[in-house]
Amino acid sequence: MSRALSAAVAAALIVTVVLAANTALTGIRLGEFKLGPVLGTAADSNLVPAGAPLGQIGSDPDDPSDPWSAAAPPGGVIVQTPGPTAGPSATGTLRIPIPKNVPTGPRRVAIQAGHWKSDEAPDELRRLIPQTGAAWEGVTEVEINLDIAERVGVILNSKGIAVDILPTTIPVGYVADAFVALHADSDGVGENSGFKMAHAARRGPYEDALLNDIKDAYGAATGLDYDARHITSSMRGYYALTWSRFQHAVAPHTPAVILEMGYVSNDDDRALMLDRADLVAKSISDGIMKFLNDTPRSKIFGQDLAVPAFPSRPSRPSPTP
Ligand SMILES: [Zn+2]
Repeated sequence: MSRALSAAVAAALIVTVVLAANTALTGIRLGEFKLGPVLGTAADSNLVPAGAPLGQIGSDPDDPSDPWSAAAPPGGVIVQTPGPTAGPSATGTLRIPIPKNVPTGPRRVAIQAGHWKSDEAPDELRRLIPQTGAAWEGVTEVEINLDIAERVGVILNSKGIAVDILPTTIPVGYVADAFVALHADSDGVGENSGFKMAHAARRGPYEDALLNDIKDAYGAATGLDYDARHITSSMRGYYALTWSRFQHAVAPHTPAVILEMGYVSNDDDRALMLDRADLVAKSISDGIMKFLNDTPRSKIFGQDLAVPAFPSRPSRPSPTP
């Protein structure tokens, strides 16, 4: 019990320090507090504003050697620490407010052409600049990604959907009814075949639906096998979906998935993506349309998200073995 209490007190202290530091840095925000009535999330004393540390050092669950400090996404988050009766391993929750820039008018979908314009990545994504994608027998992944993305865009436009074809750099806190990143893989030897999908953690509740709708349509139309065995942690931790590390990421409310459409290194997969690009694009569009028809905007953006907080790293090794 005392351990839980001291953990809760420590967490509260960290949040207090973070808030004090933020207040010191943002004099204008302080002015806003004085000038007008404080409403909504701004009134919450546990609000951590965009880009500010969340008071916890997270470890990437898929890469324990890479501890990192989680940061609040655009719009901020509200830290809800575990109560004094919580178990010692409780981490509390992060409440992510509904974004302020929810689109109005037609449904909006983003198709990201993987690796496109990677050389224009901002400083926080500079490690992506040399990641220009797979290539095989003179065919580059990025040309496939962009070609399919544009075809999907044309099809969705024809159905009244507003489409953003996005490059490597995601607009800060991007908000839409759906986001699909397109990639094509290489195994380096030409043996693997199939397509793969993933979404990330600590996001909205509709990403399984988006993933499954595209997976069903894509598998049925292309005849490709679903290659679940080779879904990687770098897919589940895809930078564009990781709002806790990057401001240039898709807002947590935006249903978002990554699709590896096939292996550019496989002759059959590559021929499918090059020679039957319209069929590939139509199947992706069909999956997205099913998702949009089943999932109204009012549901996607209907409420704040509550996601688990990041586990704190111990500040020093335990004294007992
Ligand atoms: Zn790729």
